[in-house]
Amino acid sequence: MDKQSQIQQLRHEIVINDICHELAAQATNLVMGDGDLDADIVFIGEAPGKNEDEQGLPFVGASGKFLNEMLAQAGMERSDVYITNIVKYRPPNNRDPSPAEKRAFLPYLLRQLEIIGPKVIITLGRHSMEYFLPGAKIGEVHGKPERIQLDGHSLVIVPLYHPAAALYNGSLRQTLIADFLSVPSVVEQLSHLPD
Ligand code: URA
Repeated sequence: MDKQSQIQQLRHEIVINDICHELAAQATNLVMGDGDLDADIVFIGEAPGKNEDEQGLPFVGASGKFLNEMLAQAGMERSDVYITNIVKYRPPNNRDPSPAEKRAFLPYLLRQLEIIGPKVIITLGRHSMEYFLPGAKIGEVHGKPERIQLDGHSLVIVPLYHPAAALYNGSLRQTLIADFLSVPSVVEQLSHLPD
């Protein structure tokens, strides 16, 4: 099965297994992800917001515009990377996803990563970071690549601040942009290292 069909299959399973029934009942779309299924870099946010729910695509609102700008500054486009969220339905009124909602979606996120097979995972904000770097504090680890083992795969995690948190906060914004600009060199260095 090609990667697109595998993602479709995963989407189907989320629906038939009735994952997060209450979120699903209020959502317009299940937002799986966007971008290149062969990408070296996968970005993982928190959960869809209003615009994402309406369009069925991740990061298409104000945070998405900022993410696109940072990608461009770092010499990348959305079509070069893959973008998804840990929780794939919009929580009502954009509240934080609950621990139970994140737990329910985690196996699907891990399978999605298995299908794509990226070299680098960039977590956006603490909700996705906590699963890859348990106990880490974003203020201490942001922008610092860390190699982890996940289901027998060696992966590099780069934890970044969430674009929504940094959007209107001058110093966090500069920190996030600086961290973002270091991403291409992290990927470049990895291509010279054995896994
Ligand atoms: N914030 C997220 O975490 N994900 C989106 O898709 C949009 C905003």
